[in-house]
Amino acid sequence: MLNRQSAFATFARRIARWQRKAGRHGMPWQGTRDPYRIWLSEIMLQQTQVATAAGYYQRFLQRFPNVNTLADASMDDVMRHWAGLGYYARARNLHQGARTVMARWHGEFPRDAATIAQLPGIGRSTAAAIAAFAFGAREPILDGNVKRILTRHFGIEGDPGRSAVTRCLWTLAEQTLAAAPANLDITAYTQGLMDLGATVCTRRRPRCDACPLKSSCYARLAARQEDFPARTARAARPERNCQMLILRCEDCVFLQRRPAAGIWGGLWCPPQYDDRAGLAAALDDWGTTLSDARQLPPFHHDFTHFRLHVEPWLATIADHRPAEPISAPNWIATTELRTTALPAPIKKLFAALFRDINPPAADSAEYS
Ligand code: SF4
Repeated sequence: MLNRQSAFATFARRIARWQRKAGRHGMPWQGTRDPYRIWLSEIMLQQTQVATAAGYYQRFLQRFPNVNTLADASMDDVMRHWAGLGYYARARNLHQGARTVMARWHGEFPRDAATIAQLPGIGRSTAAAIAAFAFGAREPILDGNVKRILTRHFGIEGDPGRSAVTRCLWTLAEQTLAAAPANLDITAYTQGLMDLGATVCTRRRPRCDACPLKSSCYARLAARQEDFPARTARAARPERNCQMLILRCEDCVFLQRRPAAGIWGGLWCPPQYDDRAGLAAALDDWGTTLSDARQLPPFHHDFTHFRLHVEPWLATIADHRPAEPISAPNWIATTELRTTALPAPIKKLFAALFRDINPPAADSAEYS
């Protein structure tokens, strides 16, 4: 087993030095100490690739340049600027978090990681990263990239998803930081851990020759890089089905706002039904029938915990129900769909159906 004590002493220093020389620089969220901007970038990057997040980050900041404007915005406005990025709970938590910062701390972002971690959607590692980047706080981080580096470098067996292994990794993260020199550049170290995991110590085929830890890495010396971190046994992703009704009347389409909790929370969607009987009953309510509707090509969408198979149907009605006048907010003009907060696959579906809508950038998976 590797001599941990000697590895601790140089671990952080080597990563910080490597980051300055070979890490990622010039990303839109770097070079600022503004905790609001750093918070936004950390949340956006949680489940999104750097290249995708960059555009969203800049557009989001143009509309919500500070915590005050975000707190004052409507949920719908926030969702509109997040639509297509997926993982919509992040947007709801940001919005709620901005309101908390305004209400509890008069717009002053908290400086210490423990207080930052009280904001919704922020775990210990994200809070530590924000505190390090914004305020130079000397706090350890432990995201997926760091877990991979630590398990490989220190030869930690066991599934990092298990709490005992996670505790062990947090202890290592604390120890490596505690053993670092007092003048450690915490920004370079924190960014270095992220960069090393993203660009060198990658999940598949790590580039050990380019790694600043190669001389002390257990996995490399034992040629066991593929064994770490131990794979989490995953159950097969369950499958669900739904019928989706795209109902047109004049130049409008009927949409419903999804409940805040659950898939596509807070976004606008066509009504969904569990089966064709439910769809047929709904069409009957609207004064039309399944045989008058047009079946569109089916598609599926992957959420974190299940795959949703969607059978969309397009129905056109001449008269809206008196209970749902055309002026009701559920009837949205097709020309306004481009700026409506829609989930990415629905936006794509509408782009194929209606002009005036641009398809969004593809994203891999979404959840509540
Ligand atoms: S030497 Fe290889 S396996 Fe070890 S930390 Fe560096 S990139 Fe990862």
